[in-house]
Amino acid sequence: MRKLSIGDLDVRGKRVLMRVDFNVPLDPHGNVSDDGRILASIPSIRYVIDRGGMLILMSHLGRPKGKPVPSMSLAPVSARLGSLIDRPVRQCGDCVGEEVRGIVARMQPGQVVMLENLRFHPEEEENDPGFSRGLASLGDLYVNDAFGTAHRAHASVEGVTHHVAQAAAGFLMEKEIERLGGILSSPERPFAAVLGGAKISTKIAVIERLLDRADCVMIGGAMSYTLLRAKGVPVGGSLVEPDLEGVAAALLGKAARAGKALLLPVDHLAARAVEAGSETRLFDGEGIGDGWIGVDIGPATVALYGERIGSSKTVFWNGPMGVFEIEDFASGTEEIARAVARPGVVSVVGGGDSIAALRTFGLEEKVTHVSTGGGASLEFIEGKTLPGIAALTDKEC
Ligand code: AMP
Repeated sequence: MRKLSIGDLDVRGKRVLMRVDFNVPLDPHGNVSDDGRILASIPSIRYVIDRGGMLILMSHLGRPKGKPVPSMSLAPVSARLGSLIDRPVRQCGDCVGEEVRGIVARMQPGQVVMLENLRFHPEEEENDPGFSRGLASLGDLYVNDAFGTAHRAHASVEGVTHHVAQAAAGFLMEKEIERLGGILSSPERPFAAVLGGAKISTKIAVIERLLDRADCVMIGGAMSYTLLRAKGVPVGGSLVEPDLEGVAAALLGKAARAGKALLLPVDHLAARAVEAGSETRLFDGEGIGDGWIGVDIGPATVALYGERIGSSKTVFWNGPMGVFEIEDFASGTEEIARAVARPGVVSVVGGGDSIAALRTFGLEEKVTHVSTGGGASLEFIEGKTLPGIAALTDKEC
């Protein structure tokens, strides 16, 4: 990796200001209901405290819109982290100001402090220079382990780096860059990509880039209906983005002219309504009849996509193949998840819904890399410059 890594830093006796992505879900009692994002940053956290550094953690949680919202405090996250690392994590009442400076000044080696939710201040999302300077002044060293927010030019991600001597990537950030960068730059071939989800509008640029890099791109989910309609295929009452039919047609034309394999579903499960228990019917061709809504890919598509995935050495998957939240419509997504999670394939999965599907089917441990950043991983694959990565210090060669 071209960027400075936390592993290159001498953290002993230093105050290490670390941006993490602890934007975790809380249950109705305010407890952390899924600690996956906390666990993902434990290697970086341990690296600092085990070497006698003083660790100052900062994160956002939810969307408090620039003002303090008690239900979005990071206190429950501090409690969970404390039990995971078996040492107290001191929760601050704010992320900047005199009181915080006092707490940080009194820290001892090996101690951990959690700043309060960054987004309680509008200056965080505004990338305000004064606020960035205030955050930077808390640490001797800065580490960014928050891949999930790397696509945002916020104060704790981007602005802060202008006020520190060195900005390093944490181990999670490093792993994300290596895995996602690796499949784009030197994938073991054949390399297959599977893209699904509701909206093609958010994934056009990703499809284009993957058509360029992968040997085959397979489309599922509602976004396939906009592409099918652009080909003149009837899709009944399925979810489409009519404004994007022109863009979809251009994409299909470009893929065809370049001789790229852009596969669309060859059969569909359709329902009268997107509801559990609704009457269903299998359409065994490309089209869907009037009065029916496509809710999943059909068995012939599962077989076709499964075969392509099965003969690949690298697979990238983002987005469900249907309305997988409803069990009756989940089988296409489950079959694709099983094919992706096959041993011996380098499998990289991004996006909240694909990860939720892997978890539902007990397959999370079976894939090579689960990206912690949905939006960030798509922007990375698109080839966009992510401000949080660009801002890190380049490694000296
Ligand atoms: P996205 O955020 O664009 O990745 O879309 C994810 C959502 O797409 C999930 O909540 C799925 O239920 C939904 N989805 C996938 N296939 C369909 C479909 N055929 N009709 C309606 N929604 C779908």
